[in-house]
Formats: sequence, structure tokens, C-alpha cells
Amino acid sequence: MSDSTVEHRGTIVIGSGPGGYVAAIRASELGQKVTLIEATDRVGGICLNEGCVPSKALISVGHRIRAAHDTDQYGLSFEAPKLDFAKTQHWKQHDVVERMTRGVRGLLKKHDVEIVQGFATLDSDTVLRVMPAGPQQFMSVDLGRQFTFDDLIIATGSRPIEIPSFPWGDRVIDSTGALNLPEVPKRMIVIGGGYIGTELAGAYADMGAKVIILEGSPSILPLFESDLSSIVTKRLEAKGVEIHTGVRARDVDEDADGVQVFVTLNDEEETLEADYCLVTVGRRPNTDNIGLEFTSVEIDNHGLVVTDEQGRTASPHIYAIGDITAGPALAHKAFFQAKTAAGAIAGQPTANDYIGVPAVCFSDPEVATVGVTKDEAEKQGVAVETAKFPFAGNARAVSLGEPDGFVRLVSTKDEGTLIGAQIVGPGASDLISELSLAVNAQMNVEDIALTIHPHPTLSEPIAEAADIAIGYPTHI
Ligand code: FAD
Repeated sequence: MSDSTVEHRGTIVIGSGPGGYVAAIRASELGQKVTLIEATDRVGGICLNEGCVPSKALISVGHRIRAAHDTDQYGLSFEAPKLDFAKTQHWKQHDVVERMTRGVRGLLKKHDVEIVQGFATLDSDTVLRVMPAGPQQFMSVDLGRQFTFDDLIIATGSRPIEIPSFPWGDRVIDSTGALNLPEVPKRMIVIGGGYIGTELAGAYADMGAKVIILEGSPSILPLFESDLSSIVTKRLEAKGVEIHTGVRARDVDEDADGVQVFVTLNDEEETLEADYCLVTVGRRPNTDNIGLEFTSVEIDNHGLVVTDEQGRTASPHIYAIGDITAGPALAHKAFFQAKTAAGAIAGQPTANDYIGVPAVCFSDPEVATVGVTKDEAEKQGVAVETAKFPFAGNARAVSLGEPDGFVRLVSTKDEGTLIGAQIVGPGASDLISELSLAVNAQMNVEDIALTIHPHPTLSEPIAEAADIAIGYPTHI
């Protein structure tokens, strides 16, 4: 070892993604002396560097192009938009990603968080080792620095699942590759129509790519109800996206110019050609390479760390948060768990409660849900009513030229308590917050109906659906 002294720290956090950096900030606010260990030279994790933030930047560029195309009915005409994609990528990287990550670094500094760059692994329940990051790390004679800690929060996140028959290459790419393409592909095959595949397929279709989605389930966005996903399917098809569901791509050939994907479509063996093949079939938690086997931390059979409601693992001073824990692999879940774990270390009676965690797909139109669906409620033996209001009946949506979609409320039959909501349509990603608050606060549909919503806005369908739920529909 380069330095045999074992160093002691207060609270150590591994990973600087939404889980890790928020845990570090909150722990510091609660008076803990915090050290954050990050394997890369950047902070912000997948979310800021390769996930939520850059994907939404590209999606917004796609929306601008689409908006500039679809103007005829408003009496507007433009020359066809010209895309300088190198400039788009520069904007996304420098003005969006780097701006946001600089902000996070500044916050960590302000909160006096010590940042140690290197790859952390656990030697035991009480000792961890930080190796210089990089490909030679395990061949190096440098055995790194060893730390003991009062408390440890692990937030090592997740990585894309690689299918053996679709090995990563220059043109068989994961979501990070798809976010960093040097050009808009002429043709792109997307394997996996989950939320990441659907978002990126829509963005590249808006930018002019011919996109083909191959999805194994009966529909894209299989985690959402079919009346939500079918609206997104129609919109994608209108953009020229070819969607094949219930299919399994067999394998791929890659050369310098592109890919050939072999797939059975309608009982015929087909070879599909494209410039790139994006594979987005799920993510794997980063729990298999950090020495957890040398600790008493328990892992379930999905590789997720088992925790109590405060994020505490089977090892009482080790907490786990974010994508390495059960529940939706979403940044806002990680933010919440981060605050819960830091609070638990400070002795606060914090607890994670996932009922009000919204899930959003930034597709066109957006899809957003919170709480339970009607089917899920009934499976749990809860009798529910649903009330649905279409955006076609909302003046703001119609005047924006966005009449597709609806808001649906799911409430208990007896008390009318709101226990779930689904939105597909314009602004769904923002609108869902009102319903998350209502679900969290266990409000009933009457509370929503009696809340004055501004007119004309996209929020009105929420109140209209609540009016339907209490038996007094107004604009329908
Ligand atoms: P991560 O963000 O994965 O961060 C983990 C960090 O730990 C990384 O910086 C990594 O380098 C570091 N690390 C790992 N192992 C070690 C180690 N041993 N030692 C030191 N450091 C280590 N979620 C949303 O809520 N909304 C979205 O719109 C959204 N869009 C997405 C789009 C894409 C394309 C992708 C891929 C993901 C998206 N997500 C979205 C998911 C979101 O990015 C993750 O849920 C979130 O980043 C998880 O946060 P985390 O803190 O658990 O881990």
C-alpha cells in the first residue's frame, strides 16, 4: 500500500449521482463531516452526465424542429429547419450538462464536502479502500487509501445491461452512446421500447432519423397502461417511426458503416440495416463490484441492496440509496432516499414511502403517473372509481394544438381518497406534481374539485376529472 495509515472520516458517501451528492449536501446540513468518493472526474452521476439532463436537452431540440415543421394550420410557414448537430451537441454538453454539474460541484464545495476521486470497494463492514480509477486500477501496485467511517452511504447507481448477442461496439450503442452521437443517424434501430428507448427514438425521429423500435412486450412503454402508451405509439408512428412489438431481435453484425440486425418479423427472418443500433433493455445495479461480499450487507436476487425504510442495510452503519435499491430507478427517488438516509444518520425519524413517487416518460406526448392504477388497486383488494377528462375538452390544450391525451384519477370507492393518477398529454411531467402532493397528503377528489385551478391552463383537466369523480362533470 502506498500509505499504510487508515484514515478515519465521519460520513462517507460513495457515488456523486442524484443519490450521492444530495446525501452529501443533506448530511453536511445536518452537521456531519462528509467525504464523497467518486470514481470519475465529474460529479452528478448518470443523471446529470448521461441520463435525465442530456436526454431532455436533445428531446427539447427535437420538439423545436417538430414545432417549426407543424405550423401550416396556424397560418405560419418557415423554410425547413436546418440542424447543425455538432452545435447541438456542443450546447447540450457545455451549456446544459457542464453548467449543471458545475452547479453541483459548487454546492458540494459550499457545504464543505471533501471529494476523493477513485473507485471505492469495501474490505469489511467498517473499512473501505479507494483505488485510483481507470482501467489499470487492479493491476496497479498502488493498493489505494483505506478509510474507516462513522457511517457510509452507498449510491453507486446502475449501468446498462449488455445483451451477449449485441456486444457494445462503435455502432451497437447504449444510451450514453446515443446521447453523444457525432451525427443524426439516417437510420437507427432501437432495441427496447421502455422509457429510455422511447424518449431517444422520439428525439432522433424529430431530428430527421428513420427510427425502428423492436420491443419484446406487446406494446412499447410496457410499464404504463395501454391507453397511455397507445397515444405515444400513434404519435411516434405519425413521425414515421416503425414499431414492432412482441419481437425479439436475435443478433447483430457491425462494420465501419453500420449494423445489420437479425430479427423474426411476422414469421419471416428479416435483416434490418441501420447506421446505429441502440440497445436499451434495462439497467443493472452497481452492487457486484464494490466488495459487498466482504460485508454483512444483503443483496436480493436482482442484485439490489436490501434496506429498511430509512435505507439502512443489514450492516447498521451502512446505508444504500438510489438505483442500487428496490423501487423505480429514477433520480427523484434517489434524491428522496438521500435525505432520508442522511436524516437517519442524524437520528431523525425519517422514512422512505414510495406511494407518491411519480414516474414520467418524456415522450411526445408526455406520460406521467403516480400511485396505483385501477388494476393494481383491485389486485390489492381496494374498490376504486376512476374519472377521466380528455385534453380535447381543455381550451389551453386545444389552443396549443395539443388535444391528445387525458387525465385520470383513481380514488377509493368509500372515501374518495386519491390513491393514483395517470396523465398522458401536454405538460404531463409538470402536472403530475399536483397529484403526487394529493396522493401523499391522502386528499380526496373533493379537495381537488374545490381547489380553484387557473383558466385557461393545462391544469384544469385535473379539476375537471375531480368534478367527474364527485358526480358533477362540468365541461364534458
Ligand atoms: P448514478 O446517477 O448512476 O450515479 C452513481 C455514481 O456513482 C456515478 O457517478 C458513478 O461514477 C459512481 N460510482 C459507481 N461505482 C463507484 C465506486 N465503486 N466508487 C466510486 N464511485 C462510484 N431518471 C429520472 O428521474 N428522470 C429522467 O428523465 C431520467 N432519464 C434518464 C435517461 C437516461 C438515458 C438514463 C440512462 C437514465 C435516466 N434516468 C432518469 C435515471 C436516473 O439517471 C437514475 O435513476 C439516477 O441517476 C440514479 O442515481 P444514483 O445516485 O443512484 O446513481
